[in-house]
Amino acid sequence: MYKFFQEQLDSKINNHNLRTLTEYCPIDAVRVKKDDKEYLMMASNNYLGLTFDQRVINEAIKGAQQYGTGSGGSRLVSGTFPLFTELEKELAKFKNTEKALVFNTGYMANVGTISAIADKNTIIFSDELNHASIIDGCRLSKATIKAYSHCDVEELKFLLKQVDRNARKLIVTDGVFSMDGDIAPLDRLYELSREYHALLMVDDAHATGTIGNGHGTAAYYGLEKDVDIQLGTLSKSLGAVGGYVAANSTIIDYLVNMSRSFIFSTALSSADIGAALAALQIIESDSSVLRRLQDNVNYMADCLNSMGIYATNETPIFPILIGSNEDTLAVSNHLYNAGIIGTAIRPPTVPVGESRIRLTVTAAHNREQIDYVCQTLSKAIKELNCEGTI
Ligand code: PMP
Repeated sequence: MYKFFQEQLDSKINNHNLRTLTEYCPIDAVRVKKDDKEYLMMASNNYLGLTFDQRVINEAIKGAQQYGTGSGGSRLVSGTFPLFTELEKELAKFKNTEKALVFNTGYMANVGTISAIADKNTIIFSDELNHASIIDGCRLSKATIKAYSHCDVEELKFLLKQVDRNARKLIVTDGVFSMDGDIAPLDRLYELSREYHALLMVDDAHATGTIGNGHGTAAYYGLEKDVDIQLGTLSKSLGAVGGYVAANSTIIDYLVNMSRSFIFSTALSSADIGAALAALQIIESDSSVLRRLQDNVNYMADCLNSMGIYATNETPIFPILIGSNEDTLAVSNHLYNAGIIGTAIRPPTVPVGESRIRLTVTAAHNREQIDYVCQTLSKAIKELNCEGTI
């Protein structure tokens, strides 16, 4: 088997697709250090820059001091501390649902939710660009999977029409697509879900804190009370680690009983729960954070557009489509040498031939930094003679 592993690694090297871990030491929400050199982080999902917010840090420390470091067991056996109940109440309020349930990661929330609510007699309709954790949840459920072209509501309708009207059905989509930054047409998906009696689930990993006044995709469309399942992560805008599902009581009670990634894993640490609670509180009470993010998104989109790189200003994710792995790595290295981290995103994270630099801006960046990133990127694309589009 070692021979097989080595062949696979060699093949990745030959295709410019090898992944390696790089050690960086964070300085603040947007700067990291490596070998005494400072880099600007343009590849994180820390959209609101809350990981270094003193209010969030204080609540993480308080959580650990009050309840200890590890939780010591799974939620159902030994780990439901009062902080969990408080966070779930706040998340439900935030997402305008009856209840919420915290998982250990967004990945585990997707895998554990989809594999619990769908079985071999269920048909899942899934956007082709949905996140890997949705795809893995679908596979684990053993349901029939029908992937529809990205955001193609007409194709989804065509697929829905073809299946048995009485079959159990789930429509699942990213709210803000992780590698493209566009927003799912949730209003149209909702209409179809009611017309064809399908459950509707949205993954708000990148939408929470960024759209719908920070409340996510359902809020963006005014559908908080209508979407069946709003899933998300504590690990991006909320500056902690963890995942959650917000839904009605029936669905949450069902997941507590049926979701294996929830049942069979040790609960999160109280430090993470404390941090997430503080972050939620900030989103609700301190509008300056959301405003700073939106200002930076607008500024970065204008900056890129003025340099001939097409960008929209809807979300903080700016995919700079390059094409080949080799060219994308070259642009990424150019940025790196100039002190900017703009990671090369390659297959299987994105389709073959659509490798890209995925730049993200946060509330914690300043205009000078954004100017520098855009100018350096423009120079890299010109010098390396590769196309940069969105
Ligand atoms: N869903 C989407 C759309 C994501 O992009 C991610 C993380 N990249 C996840 C779920 C998983 O969340 P977490 O990182 O908390 O496991």
